[in-house]
Formats: sequence, C-alpha cells, structure tokens
Amino acid sequence: MSFPTIFFDRDNTLNVDPGYLSNPNVVELFDGVGEGISRLKNSCGFKIVVISNQSGIARGFFSKIEVDSVNEKINQILLDKNNVKIDAFYYCPFHPDFSSAEESECRKPSPMLVLKAAEEMDLDLSKSYFVGDKPSDIECGINAGLKTVLINYEKEKIDFVEKYKPNFIVDNFLNACDFIIADYTGGKTFVE
Ligand SMILES: [Mg+2]
Repeated sequence: MSFPTIFFDRDNTLNVDPGYLSNPNVVELFDGVGEGISRLKNSCGFKIVVISNQSGIARGFFSKIEVDSVNEKINQILLDKNNVKIDAFYYCPFHPDFSSAEESECRKPSPMLVLKAAEEMDLDLSKSYFVGDKPSDIECGINAGLKTVLINYEKEKIDFVEKYKPNFIVDNFLNACDFIIADYTGGKTFVE
C-alpha cells in the first residue's frame, strides 16, 4: 500500500525562523505542532515529511551536519512532548547563485524532492497535501499534484494568494491539521 502524506515546509511553518537556522539549541516549534502531527498520524495514518530549501549550505553559512542537527532537535522535541516524530526530512542544499543549474533543480518550487520522497517511501501523492508559508511552497505542492495549505504568510503579500490559489489558508497549525483531516475524511472543508 502507499501512504497518504502531509508534506511540510520547515522554517516558519513548523518552527520559528530566525533566518538561516543552524543552532539546534534555539529551535522553537510553533504552538500546536506536536499535537497537530499527532492528530494527523493517529486519525488518518498520514506519513509526515519535511521538504525544505536550505541554501545556507551553498552560501557557506552552515553545514549539512548543522541542518541535520536542527532536524534531529525538532524530532526530539516532538518525541519528548507528544511521542510523535517526522518520518523524513528532505532538503535542497543548493542555490543557483552558488551551485550549478542542475544541482539547484531540487529547490522548491520544483517538486523534485516530493517525487523523490514518494518513490523512496511509497507515498500516495493523490491523497497528500503540502503545507507551507511561501509562494514556492504552494507552487511546489501544485507542481507535485498535491492539495495545498498556506500558513503564517505575510498578509501584505496577498497577491500571490490570488495567483496560486492554495486550497486553504489557515492562521495556525492546528487549524491546518484539522482542515486536512476533515477534507481527507470527507468533511469537504476545502475549496475545490
Ligand atoms: Mg518557510
């Protein structure tokens, strides 16, 4: 069987984003993240996968080891507080200003890492969702054929909402999870 999956952006979706986050000791998850992921897993059996652009590696700001340590810290917090964890973290370390065009193809809004995760983890993209705070997240979700949820977006950038038309716009993490669960189970909360 293939698994329905929630793909999450990382920075400013799961955790407070200080900009080029590399220190696991300052990781702070938003309210409701542990509870929300717990609900997604327990109610519908969703896999949870993070898809993140981490160009700070290409820019020389930090290493893959530091990105991995931040990701491990996120899972440690989730395990300690809610006894859940993210199933996998995928990230693109490249940026076209510092890397080749071919290398940079993994960056959102490309769906490349979503498709890679789907193949490696046996994920059912027809029953999956992408949740993120930026236009590139919504576009990535659309490019991968997923339903999309916009969270924590900058209100003054409302014009991209018109352009990309996310299926749902939420103001906090638990709302995102509850709308996904209702939609998935037939509650029809999404705009078609
Ligand atoms: Mg983000």
